[in-house]
Amino acid sequence: MNMGTLLIRNVVRDGVPCDIYIKEGVISSIGRGLDLEADTVLDGGGKTVMPAFVNMHTHSGMTLFRGICEDMPLSRWLDAVWKAETVLDDEFIYWATRLACLEMIKTGTVSFNDMYWRIDKAAKAVEDSGMRAHLTYCFLDGGDNDRQRRQREECTAMYEVSRVWSPRVQFGVSVHAHYTVCDDNMLWAADFVRKHSLLLHTHISETRSENESHTARYGVSPTRRLADMGLLGRDVVAAHTLWLSEEDVRLLGESGTTVVHNINSNLKLASGYRFLYNELRDAGANVTMGTDGCGSSNNLDMREALKTAALMQKAWREDPAALPVDELLAMGTRNGAKGLGLNSGVVEEGALADLILVDTDSAFFIPEHNFKANLIYAANSSCIDTLICDGRVLMSGGKVDGEKEVLARAREEAGRFIRKINSI
Ligand SMILES: [Zn+2]
Repeated sequence: MNMGTLLIRNVVRDGVPCDIYIKEGVISSIGRGLDLEADTVLDGGGKTVMPAFVNMHTHSGMTLFRGICEDMPLSRWLDAVWKAETVLDDEFIYWATRLACLEMIKTGTVSFNDMYWRIDKAAKAVEDSGMRAHLTYCFLDGGDNDRQRRQREECTAMYEVSRVWSPRVQFGVSVHAHYTVCDDNMLWAADFVRKHSLLLHTHISETRSENESHTARYGVSPTRRLADMGLLGRDVVAAHTLWLSEEDVRLLGESGTTVVHNINSNLKLASGYRFLYNELRDAGANVTMGTDGCGSSNNLDMREALKTAALMQKAWREDPAALPVDELLAMGTRNGAKGLGLNSGVVEEGALADLILVDTDSAFFIPEHNFKANLIYAANSSCIDTLICDGRVLMSGGKVDGEKEVLARAREEAGRFIRKINSI
């Protein structure tokens, strides 16, 4: 439910002062001195308006795993996480996801693409937070026949349940990875998403060893095999895509697949850093940004992830012109919106009103020669003052309604979870 009409007075858009009128969740008019009646009027106080971030790959239910698997490579990290996941329950997922939503709102993210368990509970948490999300039922069968069949039934049942979710919360399907899901279920998942016009979410080529063992077993790269199985396309979101051959880049580009760079997670797990941004962009892939989950990247701060991504591209290519700031912000906003099929990621009439107001009254934004460079390279995310989702103000003056309760309940859940882990 949006708030009817919202008039934001006195903001700066692309360096020009203006007002923004929002009706039924959509930007209706942008102009100076708009003389329109509105249910709610918000004084922008000269802050800069821009599209809110879209986090294209995370595992929000893992937010309470923050700090429990430090200093491990991915293979050992996965063993530790899979042990921890044996004690998850509905309360854990709900409060972990509420905490994730609170952190994302505070750091300027309006929408996210998620892969985790018990997504009906995650959906309730997203609805209660006021954000948008694309929540995916996750296939991970480890070759177990019973589990393969059970997951198909669960996926079908969850899709039916999702029909009563808020329109802001979309249902999708995940294939966890090509090495954790059997061929039959990968094909079933691809068929299911196409039958119901959904999106497919997966991890591809996160580590070098994953690629090497795949090539030794199948004689081709993971991307080549997924392409042959029909698991690439404009309706596919592939996270990581870090260890790619020239042919892999071409396949991802030709298919128009949305790829997600997760630099902080990749650096923290020492998975690699030579993300082929220019090559993927030029080949035609939709290149976006994500944080991954807090179990690996520790936070969900998109502005911080964008900064690291740009610095790493410039460094490993030995080219300071690599990944210019306009393209960087597009990765974090409109490219993500495109990947999720949302008409947002821009501040334009007709687009969804998913916006942030940035407080530039601080040392980080002086001088004012380049707002975008100041935002990414000088400031931190505490400059994000206001977040609007679907025309509703979810944060104003850095404050989110109910945040104290979310922090207290999440803290309680984290304690309960650790006691359960220690008892097994
Ligand atoms: Zn992931």
